[in-house]
Amino acid sequence: MTESILIVGCGVFGLSTAVHLAERGGYQVTAIDLLPVPSQFSAANDFNKIIRCEYTDFIYTKMAVEAMKLWRSDPIFKGIYSECGRILITPELHVGRKEFEEESIKNLQKIPGEGRKLEYFKGGNDLANRFDFLNLNSVSETTEIKWNPEAGLAHAANSLIALYNKAVDLGVKFIFGKSGEAIRTVSKKNGRDYIITKDGTEYTADKIIISAGASTGFIVDLNHQQSATGLFVTHIKLTPQEYEKFKNIPILFDAEMGYFFPPDSKTHVLKIALPGSGASNLVTSPHDENEKISLPRYKLDCPTDTIPYMAIRQARALLKKFVPELEDHELFNSKACWIADTSDSHFIIDKVPNSKNLYVATGDSGHGFKFLPNIGKYIVDKLEGKLDPEMEYSWQWKQDRPEFDPNMCSWRVGSGNLDFSEIEWAREDDKGCIIKL
Ligand SMILES: Cc1cc2nc3c(=O)[nH]c(=O)nc-3n(C[C@H](O)[C@H](O)[C@H](O)COP(=O)(O)OP(=O)(O)OC[C@H]3O[C@@H](n4cnc5c(N)ncnc54)[C@H](O)[C@@H]3O)c2cc1C
Repeated sequence: MTESILIVGCGVFGLSTAVHLAERGGYQVTAIDLLPVPSQFSAANDFNKIIRCEYTDFIYTKMAVEAMKLWRSDPIFKGIYSECGRILITPELHVGRKEFEEESIKNLQKIPGEGRKLEYFKGGNDLANRFDFLNLNSVSETTEIKWNPEAGLAHAANSLIALYNKAVDLGVKFIFGKSGEAIRTVSKKNGRDYIITKDGTEYTADKIIISAGASTGFIVDLNHQQSATGLFVTHIKLTPQEYEKFKNIPILFDAEMGYFFPPDSKTHVLKIALPGSGASNLVTSPHDENEKISLPRYKLDCPTDTIPYMAIRQARALLKKFVPELEDHELFNSKACWIADTSDSHFIIDKVPNSKNLYVATGDSGHGFKFLPNIGKYIVDKLEGKLDPEMEYSWQWKQDRPEFDPNMCSWRVGSGNLDFSEIEWAREDDKGCIIKL
């Protein structure tokens, strides 16, 4: 008998689930989203994301290694994934981050054949000798550096499009626009939950999976298990000469200051991400007027939101430290990109308590893109009642899960989250470039 499935949100988790359901067979799958793929509201609507396998929790190490094999071998990702390697700069005084990195590497090396090409070295001179593009760096001689050539990046938006096309070919039905924008759920007397969309359409199915990323909390009450965090990104455009110098660089990840990627081959744009300076947007919960929760606020809706001046200074300091010749470039397309944080750094993939047909697949999404090829397999396992017990335990709905507190993340460098209501936004000119003070 065919089972009907409704997927709400066609980002990483939603599309991967759609494809895995369709491939397994026996399902009639409908997927809805407010925007067509790749949605501007997906954290993965981007031109690059890191694929790496170092994790402190072995569940994710194994999943990342599995995903990496698919990124390399699945023809669908040909021309989308490239293995450029990742340089990891460990903050000198941050014990938690140091331990986090060491444990992650140990975990990776437990898997036969994995993590064998990792190298360690120390200081700015070594860095300059190893990587031409870092010849002007000012890294201290005591800084620990790790180099893993077995990491890469994927063109994230193109990966979503590739998976969407595959899902369409496999018979998944997609609905976008107001009739794809879920507003809330409602339980009916027939015992089923329904999704109500902006235009008033009501949908139900044998199983409904809400996978709306950081926005999931708008649609369903997650009981404070998930908190949306805005991470700041900005961009610079390289000249043709600079592009020639930087086109084949690896990812440079400084856990304290931020990270940057090889420039895009078409646009010559180089992305700078600033993970240490996240922000919350505390608003009245749509599910309880006495509660506050952090939910995303998108630049599409609030065009004057850019990034804080502090993040601008951070971006320039990052460039100055590693590639000072790029420090004075104009910064443009500066924005918060929303992830969903959970206090135990686990996904939430479970049935909603007291519901017969409503599931969520969300949570801890600061690193979830890399699982695009395989997260759907595990979500379908959950629906079919055959999820690996360790995953089942880690990803369960935890009624008593403490609220997310950025200060309690041992691996996170930087102090707390800013609040959106208090941020002084850097101003942009009419071309979207940050106006220098
Ligand atoms: C700055 C930044 C950098 C990152 N870098 C990396 C990286 O290098 N490597 C990595 O592995 N991961 C990275 N991530 C994380 C990765 O992008 C996320 O883990 C991933 O996108 C989460 O997938 P998701 O499906 O949960 O949510 P999303 O991909 O955000 O998708 C959610 C979907 O739900 C839709 N939606 C929202 N509201 C509704 C609604 N009301 N009704 C219907 N649909 C709705 C949206 O339109 C969207 O399509 C990064 C994230 C950010 C923000």
